[in-house]
Formats: sequence, structure tokens, C-alpha cells
Amino acid sequence: PPPGLGTWTARRARSSPERVALVHGPTRTTYAELDDRVRRLAAGLRGLGVAPGDRVAYLGPNHPAFVETMFATTALGAVFVPLNTRLAADEVAFAVADTAPRILVVDPDVSTAAMLSSGVSMAALLTLGGTFDALIMDTTERAEPVDTDPDALAVLMFTSGTTGRPKAACLTHANLTWNALNVVVDVDLAGDEVCLLSAPLFHAAALGMTCLPVLLKGGTLVLEQAFDVDRTLDLVERERVTVMFGVPTMFATIARSPRFADADLSSVRYLLCGGAPVPPSLLEVYAPRGPAFLQGYGMTEAAPGVLLLDPAHARSRAGTAGRPHFFTDVTLASSGEILVRGPHVVSGYWQRPEETAAAFTGAGWFRSGDVAEVDDEGFHRIVDRAKDLYISGGENVSPAEVEGVLAAHPDVVDVAVVGVPDDRWGEVGHAWVVLAPDVDTTPEDLLAWLDGRLARFKAPRTVDVVATLPRNPTGKLDKPALRRSLRQ
Ligand code: ATP
Ligand code: MG
Repeated sequence: PPPGLGTWTARRARSSPERVALVHGPTRTTYAELDDRVRRLAAGLRGLGVAPGDRVAYLGPNHPAFVETMFATTALGAVFVPLNTRLAADEVAFAVADTAPRILVVDPDVSTAAMLSSGVSMAALLTLGGTFDALIMDTTERAEPVDTDPDALAVLMFTSGTTGRPKAACLTHANLTWNALNVVVDVDLAGDEVCLLSAPLFHAAALGMTCLPVLLKGGTLVLEQAFDVDRTLDLVERERVTVMFGVPTMFATIARSPRFADADLSSVRYLLCGGAPVPPSLLEVYAPRGPAFLQGYGMTEAAPGVLLLDPAHARSRAGTAGRPHFFTDVTLASSGEILVRGPHVVSGYWQRPEETAAAFTGAGWFRSGDVAEVDDEGFHRIVDRAKDLYISGGENVSPAEVEGVLAAHPDVVDVAVVGVPDDRWGEVGHAWVVLAPDVDTTPEDLLAWLDGRLARFKAPRTVDVVATLPRNPTGKLDKPALRRSLRQ
């Protein structure tokens, strides 16, 4: 069984102490320095009463403190709880009440931090740039990582809440380690990888697909608090970035930058992308520039990698999410639902026995809630979320398919489709589109354009042109919000 996550920085400090683990603004932290800070923080947290099994939450952006808190907490056998900085006050209060952390590490610049310090929680607060830094500086003792059961909880990670209230997935040391091994093996990560990370670490994708595997290999993480095109291009050139992680819309924004044509992307090997399929047009834009797209499909409950489309098939199998990771088993239920099993898949949600029971089949497969098709070479095409499919005149319609066809219209920049009740057909599609600047395309033009490209029953009945679409931080359309907007 693998040793706990809390031993990783010590192991790295032993084998590559001089390498740079983290770059954040002007600050560079070697593995030796990272391990020293982690041990002092762990000793400090222990002094504040953190015991095995206790929760330590972190509410803040990508920052070395995230990584330090995660490793110090797990070194004590305690449980790290990353919180989403974009949640509303009530949602943060819910997550805090749900996980009852003993310590909360907060960045005072996060808008919901004030609410926490004004007494919503009973936990002790440590603030970035304040008591958190002081705790590390003032602690001279260095804690040794405790022995942990590989099946003990390491991280409580909330799902994105796309389909309902977020649930905290119980990620164990073993879950996170096996996922990191999957990525190291299948993404072919090198020991000198320099990975630029602006996607938030409080989501499973950034944590599991880059942060943990890159640190396992001894590479460098360049941490950015938010995505900014100019800073991204500056950092790629200054740090000789080899891997960039993001959602498709982020790579599209980079490609639209006036600096893109002259940017030096020669160091970049991989663009690691997840959460939604990469549009073929985007693959073509990057193809002549060198970096290869690696597209993944996964979910928080799988820590998160499940399927990966390797660069060799990125273009020939565009639109698919690839094949299962090495240590992962995937099968399709008769409904087409993707079922997942493997040592990186959680065994349940935090304090949600009913949702946990509903999430697994009798044989122990995790039900993803996503519907897919698989070809005879094992490439999976994600059709849609089971919940998003709607039925029009007795025919199943996948909003994702309709969105894909509308998105291929040259004037369409972004699109969302949902099924809405209809007296005659049961349900019909409704689309929202964002158009490119300075075009005068009308909804009627778009509907006419769908003629012959999409079966009549699939074409949306109504189209609204809007300025933007609500997306959550993982790049996913916020369909519940869109549906609510229709009811108003
Ligand atoms: P919740 O479970 O709270 O409703 P969520 O499922 O969006 O939210 P995550 O665990 O962050 O929370 O996201 C996993 C989901 O993201 C998958 O179940 C799938 O629907 C979607 N997804 C991930 N990768 C891809 C991909 N490559 N293509 C299409 N959909 C994807
Ligand atoms: Mg989900």
C-alpha cells in the first residue's frame, strides 16, 4: 500500500531538494524549502490542536499556501478541505457547517472571508499574509509525517454542483495516489515539467490532473490566481512552460489574443484540457504551433481522471474523450451511462448515506450520470449528462449535440441548449447563443442554417441571442441557472 500524501514533500526533499517545486509571482520555492515549511506548518497546526481525522479547510486562490496546507494537514493524518472561492456566502457557510473544520485558512481578499471571520464558524482562522505566515515563521519545531492508512480520508473535495447541491467526495490517500500514478503514466510526465496552473486548485481537475502528478514527479508548478491572457503568455516565455492546464474556453481566449501569432510556444509540449470537448477548430489553430492537446474526462469522485484522449488521436478522434486510464475500468450500462471502477474512485460522499448508496451499482461501479457511446477501438464519445437529455416527440435529444452544431456556425461564439416543456411535443429545445462582435445574424438565420444539418426534432424551437452565458469555474454551462432564467 502506498505511503500517505503527507510524506510526499519529505520524499521529494530527499531525492530532488534543489529543484523548484512552486513559482508564485516572484517567489520560487524548492522542494527542500517546501518540505521545511510543510513540517513547520504541520507542527504549528498540531500545536493548535489538529489531530488525525480533523478537517482543515482552505478558502483562497492558487497560492503556495494551498499546497503547504494540504501536505501539512495530511502529514498529521488530518483531512484537507479546499473551498471554492466563487461560492456565495450561504454556500460557503453550508460547506463549512457540513465539514466542520477545526482550522480555516483564508485569504482575506476572498469576498466570503469576512463572513467567516465574523463568526459563522467555530473554527480557528488563519489568514494569508497574517497569522498563517506567522505560524510557519514562529514555529521552530518540524513535525514528522504520521503513518496513515491508505484508505484513510485525505481530502474532502466538493463536486462542482452542476446538477444540484455540491457533495463532498471522500478522497483517500490511495485514491489520490492512484490517480496521480494514472496521470504520470498516461500523460507521460517528465521530471522537469513546468506546469502553468491558473485553473483553481479547489477543483479536482487542477489538483488531480496537474498539481499532484507534477509534484510526484518532481516538476515545477507555476501558480496563477486567475487566468489572464497576457500574464499567461509572459509566463510561458519567462518560465519555459511545458504543460498548460485549462478548459477549452481558456485556450480559445489565448488563440484570439493579438499576441498569439508571435508568442513563443516552443517550450509547450501539452495543453491538458478537461471538462468539455475541445472544438475541432481550436485543435487546428494550435496544431501548427507545436503543443499537443490532451483531453480528459473525469469527475471529482474519481480524483478525477477516467478517460484520456492521447495526442496521437487528438485530431483523428476529435470529439471523443478517449480511452480509460491505465488503472481504471470503464463500462457502459444498458442505458449508456458510464460506470467507473478503480483504486482512485471514492467509496462515497461525506455524511450523505443516501447519495452514496445511489451513486454505486450493486457490483460497486460508480455511476457517472453521463451517457456515452464507445467504438470498437475503445474511444468513448460523451453524449451528454443523463439529466440533460430531453425527449421531443418521443425522440431522445442530446443538448450537447445540438450545441455542437450551432457552435460550428461561423458567427456563434458560445451556445447553450436545454429542453423546455411543450404541450405538443413533450419537450422542445431552447437555445441561447452568444454571437461574434459586429455580426447581425438573427435567430431565424441560425434556425435556417440548422436545416439539413440537424434532424428537425433536434433543432431548437426558439433561440435567444445573449451577451454571455453563465459558466461555473470548471467551464461548464450553468444549466440550472439558464433554466431558472426561462421561468422568470
Ligand atoms: P455535480 O456532481 O455536483 O452535479 P459536476 O458533476 O459538474 O457537479 P465535477 O465532478 O466537477 O462536478 O464534474 C464532473 C462532470 O463533468 C462529469 O460527470 C461530466 O458531466 C463533465 N465532464 C468532465 N469531463 C468532460 C468531458 N471531457 N466532456 C464532457 N463532459 C465532461
Ligand atoms: Mg457530478
